[in-house]
Amino acid sequence: MAPVGHDLRNLEEDYNGIVGRNFSRGRKACTDFLRALSADGDLMIRFLMESGLLKDRAVCRSCGRDMTLSKKAASTDGFIWYCGKRNQGRKCHKSVSVRDDTWFSNSRLSLAQILLLTCELLYEVPAGVVAERCATNKNTVTNWYAYIEQTLQEYLKKIKQSPSVRTDTFQQFIYAVKMTGVNPFFKFFDIVRRVGRPSSKHNLHNKQMARERSKREKTN
Ligand SMILES: [Zn+2]
Repeated sequence: MAPVGHDLRNLEEDYNGIVGRNFSRGRKACTDFLRALSADGDLMIRFLMESGLLKDRAVCRSCGRDMTLSKKAASTDGFIWYCGKRNQGRKCHKSVSVRDDTWFSNSRLSLAQILLLTCELLYEVPAGVVAERCATNKNTVTNWYAYIEQTLQEYLKKIKQSPSVRTDTFQQFIYAVKMTGVNPFFKFFDIVRRVGRPSSKHNLHNKQMARERSKREKTN
């Protein structure tokens, strides 16, 4: 994975050409960009995959072959990963969410809502205000704040800096990122790509996936 500052410059240029907005000039620019982007579901999925916030390929858990990104209006995100490969004469037919094992999994919020609230929180907007701007409730926003903090903690542990008091981590991160001049929202996602998501969220998600799998197997 190339360093975040590096690939973001190209991405910003490309999408500025399409959406007509920059995303690196502070919170307002970034949230305006995300709102403009979310008006076009196809474009948003493309952006999320190109920026590495969603995976751009998925391997079928059933037959081990590459899945295809397919449009599905009835799904939450408008797209799913689908396997239409043939296996001993029968079509595999497995599908999985585009959110599978990403920052967005295990949430009822839309991709746009999650992007916006993550961005607002990384720009230190208070939870109550974030909830209003992202059309959700304060509890949900507070939970996401905790996920962000936990992710940063795991990152700091990984790069072998001793994490200081829990509440300081977020501020330290924001401060350090401000010094580098990189958009904290994208810097954060660079970290997510490096360390993965918080393990508690991950476990929760895996349990849910296991439940769904066993349900599917029963009905098949
Ligand atoms: Zn398959």
